[in-house]
Amino acid sequence: MMTNNTEPIQQIVEAIRARQRFVLSSHSRPDGDSIGSQLAMAYALHALGKDVVAVNADPAPGPLMQFPGVPDIRIAPRVDGDFDAAIIMECGDLGRTGVEGLDRFFVINIDHHPGNANYGQINWFDASAAACAEMVFELVRALGVPLTTDIATHIYLAILTDTGSFHYSSISPRTFDICRECLEAGVDPVLVARNVYDSNNMGRLKLFGAVLSAMQLDPTGRIAIVYVDHEMAREAGGTYEDTEGLINLPLTVKEIEAVVFFKQIEGDEYRVSMRSKGDIDIGAVAKEFGGGGHKNAAGCTVRGGIDALQKLFIEKIDRAIALQDGRVAELQEGTGRGTL
Ligand code: 5GP
Ligand code: MN
Repeated sequence: MMTNNTEPIQQIVEAIRARQRFVLSSHSRPDGDSIGSQLAMAYALHALGKDVVAVNADPAPGPLMQFPGVPDIRIAPRVDGDFDAAIIMECGDLGRTGVEGLDRFFVINIDHHPGNANYGQINWFDASAAACAEMVFELVRALGVPLTTDIATHIYLAILTDTGSFHYSSISPRTFDICRECLEAGVDPVLVARNVYDSNNMGRLKLFGAVLSAMQLDPTGRIAIVYVDHEMAREAGGTYEDTEGLINLPLTVKEIEAVVFFKQIEGDEYRVSMRSKGDIDIGAVAKEFGGGGHKNAAGCTVRGGIDALQKLFIEKIDRAIALQDGRVAELQEGTGRGTL
């Protein structure tokens, strides 16, 4: 058997050149990075004269519908038809797509989530990328496709949202190099920010009010606990999708270092989203519950009584904060430097 020692990105370039029909998918309940990566890739493949179909399990959130190509993404639980390859972006495992039938094709896996399951025929994984779209940017360049305004808009959208508007520790100099190139390619950052953050409905604002009014803190005051169920959403005139982004608001309080957000699905089943500041690794917490994500943004789905669940998550997050405190103390001892 021939071994292939070339870099994954080069293998992907060769695999794309040798093929014609592509299906592109990303994770269910899409976000800015999944949509941005997928459509930047779609426009790049179009530029190469390829046949491209984008398929997702769920529609994009309302604000993202304003970006080029997003309303054309097919929404389906399975993919029909024949393709030469499936390019999957932003998914730690193939099941995250929520789309069946992708495993019938030659699978190219492009992702930045720690713990990626290497489910593709080609696997390109880079946990140092602040957004999967940073990888797509490199691939577009490696393919020799010019950075059009449409491609650049999707890459910028992905980076803006996946860094929590340039808040998370995943940001690197490369992040800003790519953003600079996107702006030079014609991206209007003011318009992108307005479309993403300032084009919501009134129900969403009222629901934010209701959920934040009911917010609780752990005894240390460092962990915020937020909760929503269908009744709260209905009363406020909003939907679950409208709670997108709400989780970041408690972190705007100086003393709050982590947030856990419980969304009731049905009965005792809950979607849990978590966010943290700095070195607090809530990705590890999510993993303990069968979920995943990054150091500062992660999630999982759990079952149980809400009171017991809240107690359990506070314990785990508290430990993650203590671990970080330990590291900080070690660092300070290590440098031998006093405080300023
Ligand atoms: P969110 O809280 O916005 O749903 O997710 C935050 C981050 O955690 C995202 O990067 C997402 O991919 C990851 N994540 C959320 N839920 C899950 C899950 O159930 N499994 C895995 N593996 N990752 C998740
Ligand atoms: Mn991402």
